[in-house]
Amino acid sequence: MNIKKVLTTLGIDKVNEGAATGTKWIKSNGAAIESFSPVDGKRIAAVTGVDRKNYDTVVSQAEAAFPEWRMWPAPKRGEVVRQIGEALRKNKEALGTLVSYEMGKSLQEGLGEVQEMIDIADFAVGLSRQLYGLTMHSERPMHRMYEQWHPLGVVGIISAFNFPVAVWSWNSFLAWVCGNTCVWKPSEKTPLTAIACQKIVANVFKANNVPEGVNGLAIGGRETGEWMSNDTRIPLVSATGSTRMGKAVGAAVGGRLGRSLLELGGNNAIIVSQHADLTIAMRAAVFGAVGTAGQRCTTTRRLIIHESVYDAFKKKLVAAYKNLSIGDPLDQNNHVGPLIDKDAVGNYLTAISELKKSGAKAVVAGGVLSGEGYESGCYVKPCIYEVDNSWPIVQHETFAPLLYIMKYKTLEEAIALQNGVPQGLSSAIMTLNMRESEQYLSHKGSDCGIANVNIGTSGAEIGGAFGGEKETGGGRESGSDAWRAYMRRQTNTINWSEELPLAQGIKFTI
Ligand code: NAD
Repeated sequence: MNIKKVLTTLGIDKVNEGAATGTKWIKSNGAAIESFSPVDGKRIAAVTGVDRKNYDTVVSQAEAAFPEWRMWPAPKRGEVVRQIGEALRKNKEALGTLVSYEMGKSLQEGLGEVQEMIDIADFAVGLSRQLYGLTMHSERPMHRMYEQWHPLGVVGIISAFNFPVAVWSWNSFLAWVCGNTCVWKPSEKTPLTAIACQKIVANVFKANNVPEGVNGLAIGGRETGEWMSNDTRIPLVSATGSTRMGKAVGAAVGGRLGRSLLELGGNNAIIVSQHADLTIAMRAAVFGAVGTAGQRCTTTRRLIIHESVYDAFKKKLVAAYKNLSIGDPLDQNNHVGPLIDKDAVGNYLTAISELKKSGAKAVVAGGVLSGEGYESGCYVKPCIYEVDNSWPIVQHETFAPLLYIMKYKTLEEAIALQNGVPQGLSSAIMTLNMRESEQYLSHKGSDCGIANVNIGTSGAEIGGAFGGEKETGGGRESGSDAWRAYMRRQTNTINWSEELPLAQGIKFTI
C-alpha cells in the first residue's frame, strides 16, 4: 500500500486538528507539530497541538460524559469495543503501514501492533461480562458481605512513541468496558497514528450513539502531560514512557493523592546457561536486541552468558549480526529499521562514546549509516559490547540497538547480575535444566514483572498482566486482572436481621 493511499484511507489531512472531544474535532490553538518519517526523512503531515483551553474543553467533555456512560451496562459497552475490533480488522493494513512509516518499526511489527489492538478488543469484550467481585461470609448473623467494582471517572492516558497505538488500546479498551471515559495524550512524535485511531473509534461511537466525551484526544508535548498529571478531574493517569517522565508524573499525581499506573523503562537481560539450546537462545537474543531497532521497553539489552559457552555464543552472535540487513522497514527483507529521530541517534552515539570511555570492548562495532536509502539520518548499526554490569552506562536504558554481554560462573551470580539494575521489566533464562529454570522463576530468582524460560524478553502476549518492578514503575496493564486498576473497589455489608450486631462483638447500648 503506498503512503498517499494509506493517509487517504485513514482520513489524515495535510494539517490536522490535535483535539477531539470524541466524534467532534475542536479548532486547536496550540503549537504546530510536524510529523517526519524516520524511514525517509519526509514530512508526512502536521497537527495543530492543544493549548490549555482546548485541553480543558476535552477533559470537561470527558467528565460530562461519565455519568451517562457509567450507566450503560458493561456488556453493552463491550459490544461497542467489539465493533472497534471489527473496524480495526478492516483498517489493519492501512494503520499498520502508518505505524511503520511514522514510527519506523518494520511493517510486520506495525501490523502486529494493530493485531494486538484487535486482540485486546476481543479480550475486553469478554471482560465486559467478567468484572467480578468476591462475596465474603460475614461474622454477624443475617448479614451479607460482598465487593463490587465501580468505574473511576476520567482516565488520562499518556503514551510513548514506540508503541504508538497498542498501548493506548490496552488502556482505553479496558477502561471503557469498566465504565470510564478517557482522554488520550499520545506521543508528540507519532501524532498521525493517534488521529487515525481517533477517527476509527469515532465512526463506531457515532453509530452506537456513545455519549460525546468518552474518547477525548489532546495532542501536545510534555506540557500537556503535565496538565494531565496535575488535573484533579482525572482520578487515574496511566503513563507509558521513560523513567524520567514516570518520576515526574508519579510525583505530581501522588501529590494530589490521585492514582497513577506507570509503565516505564526496562533494562532487560537474558541469561544464557551452559544448559541452553544455543540455537534458539541466539535467535531470541538477536530478535530481542535489534527488533524495532532496540526501541522496545522489553528490548534485550544485556546477555549474561555462562563462561563455558561464552566464546561459542559470542561467535554465533557475531555471525548473526553480519547477516542483518538494515534499511527501509516497509521492505520485508530488512531486519532493522531506523531510530525514531536524530535525537535518538545522538543518544546512541553518546552511549557508544561512554562505553569507550568506560573501557568496553566492541564485539560488533556501531556507527551511523549514510548514503542511498539512509537519507533520513536515523539508521544506525546494531552493535555489541563486552561490559561490566556496574558501569553507569550499562545501568541506564539507551533506547537503541546496543547489546551488552558479560560472563558468569554460577546461576546465583547470573541472577544477581540480572537483578542488579534499577529497572525490573522483562527477563529470560535459556536453559533445558529444570532445576535452573525453577530457581529462576522462584522468589529467589528474577525480580522482574516478566520472567520467561526459553523465550526472549520481548514480545509479550496480551493475555498476561504486562509491566515491571522498581524503576519500571510497578504498573500492570493488558491481561489477567489488570482491569482492576481502572476501577474502585467497594465493600458492601447488608444487614437483613432485626438486630444491629456490631463487628468484633462490641456492645453499645443507648
Ligand atoms: P518519553 O518519556 O520521552 O515520553 C513518553 C510520553 O510522556 C510522551 O507522550 C511525552 O510527551 C510525555 N511526557 C514527557 N515528559 C512528561 C512529563 N514530565 N509529564 C507528563 N508527560 C510527559 O518516552 P518515549 O521516548 O516516548 O518512549 C520511550 C520510553 O518509554 C522508554 O523508556 C521505554 O522503555 C518506555 N516504554 C515503556 C513501556 C512499558 O510498558 N513499560 C512501553 C513502551 C515504552
